[in-house]
Amino acid sequence: MGNVFYRNPRHSYPLAVRGEGVYLYDSQGRQYFDGSGGAAVTCLGHCHPDVVEAIQRQVELLAFAHTAFFTNEPQERLAAALAARFGEDDARVYFVSGGSEANETALKLVRQYWVAHGREDKHVVISRRQSYHGNTLGALSLSGNPGRSQIYAPLLHQWPKIEPCYAYRQQRDDESEADYASRCAASLERAIDEIGAHRVAAFIAEPVVGATLGAVPAVGQYFSTIREICDRHEVLLVADEVMCGCARSGTYFAFEQEAIRPDIVTVAKGLAGGHLPIGAAIARGFIHRQIVDSFGAFSHGHTYVGHATACAAASAVADVIEREKLVEQVSTRGAILKRALQQAFRDHPHVGDVRGRGLLLGIELVCDRETKTPPDAKLGLAEEIRTRAMSNGLICYP
Ligand code: PLP
Repeated sequence: MGNVFYRNPRHSYPLAVRGEGVYLYDSQGRQYFDGSGGAAVTCLGHCHPDVVEAIQRQVELLAFAHTAFFTNEPQERLAAALAARFGEDDARVYFVSGGSEANETALKLVRQYWVAHGREDKHVVISRRQSYHGNTLGALSLSGNPGRSQIYAPLLHQWPKIEPCYAYRQQRDDESEADYASRCAASLERAIDEIGAHRVAAFIAEPVVGATLGAVPAVGQYFSTIREICDRHEVLLVADEVMCGCARSGTYFAFEQEAIRPDIVTVAKGLAGGHLPIGAAIARGFIHRQIVDSFGAFSHGHTYVGHATACAAASAVADVIEREKLVEQVSTRGAILKRALQQAFRDHPHVGDVRGRGLLLGIELVCDRETKTPPDAKLGLAEEIRTRAMSNGLICYP
């Protein structure tokens, strides 16, 4: 152990020295099957040759040029590809270095949009419990993840959090999926009414909840009802697709399966598949127009915005996804994997639920399948499974 400020200084980490396809190798020559792609990052496998080549080419040509002075070809190309995927010609893409920065960018876009409208009061952003939007202070304020935010509570915005759409635990036995979806979505309208629509700027949610709930998609018309509520109250809708986007859940954007279009969508992890750090906030054209017409520019920026090499890596990932029809592959193989998991754990007394979309799948552990009693958090069961799986050569995400 050296001078690194390790995530867990009491833990002894193997030294990763090589990645190839689905495998990682440590300095002892041990092979690990990276089943979760880290935290749902590595979407093409490790060191994909096309991406490695694109990075090498770009570094030799132009590694970086500050975007206060220049634009660059890789960010232009990637922005056009993402706008096309988003389905709006005049969508605008703001490139950053990861998921938290993408959500900070979304927060600021939302705020500046409403100020541009002369609606200074609109500043509250509603999110959901059991969610995660990042570790920077704005994104952490949005996150319904007490384990990660409690210590920092005095530094955070105390914005309201509504219930998640979590059918396994919250749909009543006497309730249809459609009824549960509308009951759950109604909690947004109640929150807006309590705060006052004139103060609410946006609602943010993960279309498939990632780490904090364990691969939970919404049910029925939940998101279309959410979209209607947002429209009715002039509240912008932000889809956080940092984990579930970029093809992982079986469509390029997870929101496509909800037949809605958010006003802003954020992506990161799968964008360059871990080859380089990059994230993005994609905003609908009307948001960009309003900000530019009123202020001339978006009041934001980081040094590594639109980093040429990171954008080149992400462009290469997008090309592979397109060429190898990986969106369709994820959908087909996700269904096969889900069926296999359901089959394998059909009679397991401690597997309560197998769920998810595409290749973003999760298993919920319970003490008892009938009562759905969760295991005592003090047992650290998920962490124990992660550790044991890793010592057996499998990486999964608790
Ligand atoms: N949003 C979601 C849904 C995430 O899963 C994560 C990371 O796990 C983030 C935001 C934060 O992204 P990053 O860790 O790249 O800052």
